[in-house]
Amino acid sequence: MATSATDAERAWVCDALSAYWGSEPNRGLQLPMPRLRAPYAEAMPPRFTTVALPEWAEDAGVAGNLLVPIQFFLPGEGPDWARVDWLGAAFWYLHACAERAFEVENGPIHSFRFRLQGWDDRHWDHAWVNRIGLFLRAWAAREQGMSAETLFGPVPVPEVVLTHDVDAVRKTWAIRFKQTAFHAFNAFRSLAGLRMREAASKFWHAFQFLVQPASYWRFDELVQMEAQFGRKSRFNFYGGSDSILRRPRDWLIDPGYSVETPEIRDAIRTLRAGGYDIGLHPSFAAWNDVDRMASEKTRLETALGEPVVQVRMHWLRFSWADTWHAQEACGLRDDSTLGFNDRPGFRAAAALAFHPWDAKRQTPMQLTATPMTLMDSQVYDYHSAEPDERRVIMAKLIREVHDVAGKVTIIWHPHVLSPDYGWADGYRDFLHLLVTEGKS
Ligand SMILES: [Zn+2]
Repeated sequence: MATSATDAERAWVCDALSAYWGSEPNRGLQLPMPRLRAPYAEAMPPRFTTVALPEWAEDAGVAGNLLVPIQFFLPGEGPDWARVDWLGAAFWYLHACAERAFEVENGPIHSFRFRLQGWDDRHWDHAWVNRIGLFLRAWAAREQGMSAETLFGPVPVPEVVLTHDVDAVRKTWAIRFKQTAFHAFNAFRSLAGLRMREAASKFWHAFQFLVQPASYWRFDELVQMEAQFGRKSRFNFYGGSDSILRRPRDWLIDPGYSVETPEIRDAIRTLRAGGYDIGLHPSFAAWNDVDRMASEKTRLETALGEPVVQVRMHWLRFSWADTWHAQEACGLRDDSTLGFNDRPGFRAAAALAFHPWDAKRQTPMQLTATPMTLMDSQVYDYHSAEPDERRVIMAKLIREVHDVAGKVTIIWHPHVLSPDYGWADGYRDFLHLLVTEGKS
């Protein structure tokens, strides 16, 4: 793994940040900064240092500071900010150099943060790449003796793309088994901890989930809720098989519907006609399987009656080495898988739609990646946060996207609006926060 960025890689980062540069994309490349190379070898897990920004660029930082991987900082005389290889650091974040190195050694983490044991969470708390872009924008303008606004024009309009991964349209036996097992497992944990009353309540919940009927058909409700806030969203559909003769793991984990069912096909076409985007939600096993992904894409396209280019992998199954290439080989052009299952945040420290870097060919890929920064389960299952706590987490995230004028996607699953989960309020809160926190 290279520890410093090549000319092509630096140009790629500048290009990814081009929304901040207006018609002057090369300004960042011309700034006087060190280019750090070995022996500043990459530390694993990565280590960071905070660098104070000069007063005239404080706004680009978090409390006036930026987090920099330690190998891109050169200790010495003078102000710290002048001794950082900013483009090297931005490349390292956006290309996820550390995670890629980890994957080569350990295999894909399939988007579970907890597998990166001992890593510093500050890495993903903010869109550091965007903030570096804003800092370089301010610096370049200062070199010209002009304001950034005059030299480069306004920063882009922040964008939070609402998406729904359609994992279930009815309460299948697979879902009943899976969720009941999940609740029962939690109940046994309480039992083992001798928390009898808690265990009893959890067993009761597990039993209720198993036997209680519930409607997971929530398209109209979502459309109405979003209309109240003047928003339209994207629905990602599964294009695989719903056969009970599937492999047991597929039956248990993949969605249990077929887009060939007239009722579902009609729902997809109605959504599309109403101005909603339709994307593909490839199966659990498709993350490195071009043929499988392609056949699922074809089935969805047949149901929809037009090409599909947007995609997010089911369970966020994702490998840096394989998944984007597999998607590109299928003709998919816009992925929003890049995020963690078990924490909100900015996995490549970015709130940007960008073309991932193909290091082998030293060119950008054709496909666009837009990070996924928040998923419903992160603020329910993984945190079991109280409503207030949940709103604080969501508001913080929205503020970050607005502070950096960035672009991200978020996931709210349709079936969690059912009383089985009761997560409709959380989504309404999110839509409301987009309005209140979005005002600058
Ligand atoms: Zn899914």
